[in-house]
Amino acid sequence: MKDKYCYYCGKKIDLSSLICKNFHLNQDYLKTLWDNRVIQFLCCDCFKEEMLYEKGLLQIPELNEEKPKNEILQSYEL
Ligand SMILES: [Zn+2]
Repeated sequence: MKDKYCYYCGKKIDLSSLICKNFHLNQDYLKTLWDNRVIQFLCCDCFKEEMLYEKGLLQIPELNEEKPKNEILQSYEL
């Protein structure tokens, strides 16, 4: 199993916590996402910041470079 790191801060995230915190989603579906290199994951902190940013409540500096729009799933620390 390949390690995954938060798209923004580089914190390590793991599949079991992803599955645990996204229990409402199908496990096989999550594993497929996990194996997809195109999809980026965020740790809990960055996910919250991303949500705030999208609502215009937080200004994140140096985010002006165009990043590909990838599907982002919430993930958590254990
Ligand atoms: Zn992060």
